[in-house]
Amino acid sequence: MSENSKKENKVIKELKEKLLYERKNICQTMTVEQIKKADEFCEGYKKFLNKGKTEREACNETAAIAKSSGFSEYKPGGKYKAGDRVYSINRGKAVILAVFGSEPIENGVNLIASHIDSPRLDLKQNPLFEDNGLVYFKTHYYGGVKKYQWTAVPLALHGVVVKGDGSIVNIVIGEDENEPAFSVTDLLPHLAEQQYKRPANELIKGEELNILIGSRPFKDGEDSDSAKLAVMKILHDKYGITEHDFVSAELEAVPAAKARDIGFDRSIVGGYGQDDRVCAYTSLKAIIETTSPKKTAICVLADKEEIGSYGNTGLGSDYLEHFINDLANAEGVHKRHVLGNSKCLSADVCAALDPTFPDVSEKNNAAYLNHGTVITKYTGSKGKAGTNDAGAEYVGEIRKLFDANDILWQTGELGKVDAGGGGTVAMFIAKMNVDTIDIGVPVLSMHAPMELTAKTDVYMTYKGFKAFYH
Ligand code: MN
Ligand code: MN
Repeated sequence: MSENSKKENKVIKELKEKLLYERKNICQTMTVEQIKKADEFCEGYKKFLNKGKTEREACNETAAIAKSSGFSEYKPGGKYKAGDRVYSINRGKAVILAVFGSEPIENGVNLIASHIDSPRLDLKQNPLFEDNGLVYFKTHYYGGVKKYQWTAVPLALHGVVVKGDGSIVNIVIGEDENEPAFSVTDLLPHLAEQQYKRPANELIKGEELNILIGSRPFKDGEDSDSAKLAVMKILHDKYGITEHDFVSAELEAVPAAKARDIGFDRSIVGGYGQDDRVCAYTSLKAIIETTSPKKTAICVLADKEEIGSYGNTGLGSDYLEHFINDLANAEGVHKRHVLGNSKCLSADVCAALDPTFPDVSEKNNAAYLNHGTVITKYTGSKGKAGTNDAGAEYVGEIRKLFDANDILWQTGELGKVDAGGGGTVAMFIAKMNVDTIDIGVPVLSMHAPMELTAKTDVYMTYKGFKAFYH
């Protein structure tokens, strides 16, 4: 190669670096020390996943972590000063944390919103039945599940039963290996010839998601429901409940497995409910480590996102607005002036490109594992319907913030145009006239009993949230 062409190559290389955008695997960019920190961070994350497998448990665990980190229960009308730390629980299923800023509330708040509910199988109101000597619970699935994934795996039951007298029984059974677990049966392949002809979304139908919970009748039982009665007796002895008490219960069947490392290199976390407890945990850690923010920092962990944010514990409810209204009132400001100046990260997971199923993704705009936290300008489906679609100015602001704080990030889009789609809580926050953008962690096998996230991405998301609160 001549000296001249060597020079020219160098110029082209420089030009390429300056003008073109190259997506990079952040494992090659992060220092050994940073990767070690990411691994350590995810040890705490896995514990959080194991302790909070339902919205109620995640809410309780969050409150416990908050209390031990100097947060106290928020009292509307109370006197608070910069640096004060408060939390507010909504019906045991959603929680708001806040750290008061040094600037007046009128300047707006910095808000991160994620959700702590995950797809699962809920028991019906009259769930118990016996058929051919086997005892089952009927279920109605919650959120977007591929139903066939929930058969033939061990399930645990979590939740509450409100008895006729109003007393509440908490139930968690099936997590400890010494406890019994439960399972939905599936057909053996030998006899599945007709089942295989069903469309894939009906391979297992909703009414076939029956959870096997017992099979042993009373020795001298004459009644055809003897095995059912025997199971109910066990439940009565252990929890003091009767069959009728299920009408006022919320019992959720979730995968019985614990979160664990995946891969020889232990680079990935595998576990149930990472959508969206990964953003709940990272934003929780971020606000806990925020001590003297300029603007008031708020972290909300919401319920009901997986079914459209309905219900009074979902972000379709006004409880977050009411909380901000209380903060505004305390400073004699109207909430609309606070909201109009506020910024939000709608923290939720994004689909990562799956090399086994690349056809649903568009490679220039998909998110990738180990490519950092994901900035998603818009979600929705079919022509961006049902999305917040963050303004370019706000995208630019977050991009600048992340770059200034060495947050490694990428962009993401939930699949190819018209391949499907989905939403987040972003639209509900944006509705309050708050600048909002989706940020989160790329996930493989989203909504499956075991979801996968890369530890580097989890860590960068946490770092990004911290920089946002600063
Ligand atoms: Mn989600
Ligand atoms: Mn989801």
